[in-house]
Amino acid sequence: MNRRSDIYHQIAAGKRPANLLVIDNHGHFGTDLTGMPMEREVAETVEVMDASGIDRGVVFYCGTDYRRGNDLTLEGAALAPKRFIAYAYLNADDSRKMLAELERCRAAGMVGLKLHSSWVGAGVKFTDPLWQDVWAYCARYRWPVIIHGMLPCLARANPQTTFIHAHGIEAIRNDEAVQAMRECQNYYWDTSSTMTLMGAVEQAVEWFGSERLLFGSDFPLNNMVTRMGTVLAARIYDADMRKILGGNIARLLGIEV
Ligand SMILES: [Zn+2]
Repeated sequence: MNRRSDIYHQIAAGKRPANLLVIDNHGHFGTDLTGMPMEREVAETVEVMDASGIDRGVVFYCGTDYRRGNDLTLEGAALAPKRFIAYAYLNADDSRKMLAELERCRAAGMVGLKLHSSWVGAGVKFTDPLWQDVWAYCARYRWPVIIHGMLPCLARANPQTTFIHAHGIEAIRNDEAVQAMRECQNYYWDTSSTMTLMGAVEQAVEWFGSERLLFGSDFPLNNMVTRMGTVLAARIYDADMRKILGGNIARLLGIEV
């Protein structure tokens, strides 16, 4: 494919392609970074989504106090429930407490899990046996697990669990991650990144197909429109573009397209 997609040309001309579902698979509410009131945070995010044709956004916390963070995520998502899909967040803790929090989050309507290597706990690795019950829980309820600091070996060792490598597109030059993408059908990359190499999305589609690539922006830490542009600019077929922009995450979450 040596030209840009019809979807790119339509959006560049200010038109909305027919039946295009766009879901940003990576965003945050209540990240403790700005102290902005939740109402404003949600309203401004929806404004950007409306202006740029993004239908829905997946949201989760990142930080130290995971229970409070999950409450913040739920609070934000409840302000625009048709626009946001809430995931739970966990740090390392007593395993009964971790599973109890997952149950609390599932009962509240959350449908996936986010983990972050910077806050998970000093010295705690995602390969620690502590996480086995969490991976099994997520497999049982078909929750995708999106991990910042993802280790590709997790996908290999836990084939029943779906793992999303947050900012995975940055791993296009990482041999271990590339090999795992070739071999593990439960391993996904998201496109949220501040350093997407030119041509990385095209290269990933060529190597792995488009089924396990997910558009994400990392809003509000990153700009949704700019990040969507790195996908739109890729010289790939419309059918692949549709999957990356929303079709794949819709399939994972059981959302009707
Ligand atoms: Zn993030």
